[in-house]
Amino acid sequence: MIAAIPTLSIGGIRKLLLAGEVSVTEVVRSLLERIEALNPKLNAFITVLAESALADAKHFDTGERNLSTSPLAGIPLAVKDVLCIQGVRTTCGSKILENYRPPFDATVIARLRQAGAMVLGKTNMDEFAMGSSTENSAFGPVHNPWHLDHVPGGSSGGSAAAVAADLCAGALGSDTGGSIRQPAAFCGVVGLKPTYGRVSRFGLVAFASSLDQIGPITKTVEDAALLLQAIAGHDPADSTAVDRAVPNYTEVLNRPIAGLKLGLPKEYLIEGIDPEVRRAVMDAVQTGRELGAEIVEISLPHTEYGIAAYYIIAPAEASSNLARYDGVKYGYRHPEAADLLEMYQRTRSVGFGAEVKRRIMLGTYSLSAGYYDAYYKKASQVRSLIRDDFLHAFRRCDAILAPAAPHPAFKIGEKAADPLQMYLSDVFTLPASLAGIPGISIPCGISSNGLPIGLQVLGPHFGEPIVLRVAHQLEQALPPLPPKPLH
Ligand code: GLN
Repeated sequence: MIAAIPTLSIGGIRKLLLAGEVSVTEVVRSLLERIEALNPKLNAFITVLAESALADAKHFDTGERNLSTSPLAGIPLAVKDVLCIQGVRTTCGSKILENYRPPFDATVIARLRQAGAMVLGKTNMDEFAMGSSTENSAFGPVHNPWHLDHVPGGSSGGSAAAVAADLCAGALGSDTGGSIRQPAAFCGVVGLKPTYGRVSRFGLVAFASSLDQIGPITKTVEDAALLLQAIAGHDPADSTAVDRAVPNYTEVLNRPIAGLKLGLPKEYLIEGIDPEVRRAVMDAVQTGRELGAEIVEISLPHTEYGIAAYYIIAPAEASSNLARYDGVKYGYRHPEAADLLEMYQRTRSVGFGAEVKRRIMLGTYSLSAGYYDAYYKKASQVRSLIRDDFLHAFRRCDAILAPAAPHPAFKIGEKAADPLQMYLSDVFTLPASLAGIPGISIPCGISSNGLPIGLQVLGPHFGEPIVLRVAHQLEQALPPLPPKPLH
């Protein structure tokens, strides 16, 4: 019985807890044992919070805290190391923050705790969430649990690998251009990026503020709905967290999708996409049809400009956000410097990794006088066109189906030396981020060499209920993935 606990979804663990068949401590211990056994191979966690998780578990087992108050009570989760937890090292995958201990909790952490969830640990990530493979971490790369010499995707690769390898019941990630959906796809789990403004980013270390969102990475769509329910909503501490009622995300899941119109964008099934990905996505589309949905071809004509626009906008915002790491206010400071300027230079040269420096340089350039109109302003205009594409498409369909990535997970090292190749792998996730709409990735198949393939379901702004419903119905109808090799 105990050996099977780590494989359970949040819903599955809750059933055992409520039936009194296991204690919260047993659940936490079984996951900690698994982390101890597998994390050396996977490198999914940067920090494991064994003591505090066991202390929290005890509160439930002694009856001090009540298990029946919330669907997350007694559930151990992992969180990406970009989220601040008071007193706990929050590295962002960077040397420059390797010893940073925030004096406060992110709003999402406070909300999860309020709901009775426990934090098992902080997960590995691309430095400052910049990357698509989790190879850009100062703490070493994460390995894909399906194939250890492959990447788990990024930048929330640690969270996705931890969920896929059954090291936690669920996790939080952050998504600026695909960092929840793409690693979820590569690791065969569920990843939801909510609408921009749905979840408070207070306490999320900023990468690109007009794009960043926090969201769940889970084993099932129902679990994603449960986590979103706990973290969504207005927050006076984040002016971008919209003051709009949070609907009930689980009650819509079981509604059939017969009669819904699902859009298939012709620009997403282009040449160059891996044939196995295309086949798996088209099989899922067929499943949607068999469930009674009407499949309509749609066009998102500005898709091809997504990468160019994103890789101007995101680095520009990053160059501004990362100016704060100057060796004075936060984190690492180089010990040897003759004067202030040299201290800045040495701190930032040693503290940041190559990809972060590349982005700061690109971003600073595109924001500089004389270039702003040609780059940042132009990219913002293109962004509006991409947003309009979606607004137009959602007049013809209720949700959109698309691949999450053009290929399954690639080998560690395969794209690391070629940033452009790495950027190209974001082609299907960036447009939804630029438009601010919600998107989920669910597993829809497996490649011939045993790597999962992800299907994306996109919805209109604040359309999480329809996204979750379509994803849940497809998840129930699609064949399950074969057993993971790391069992
Ligand atoms: N891969 C994209 C990038 O490198 C997206 C990252 C993210 O969503 N945080 O910027």
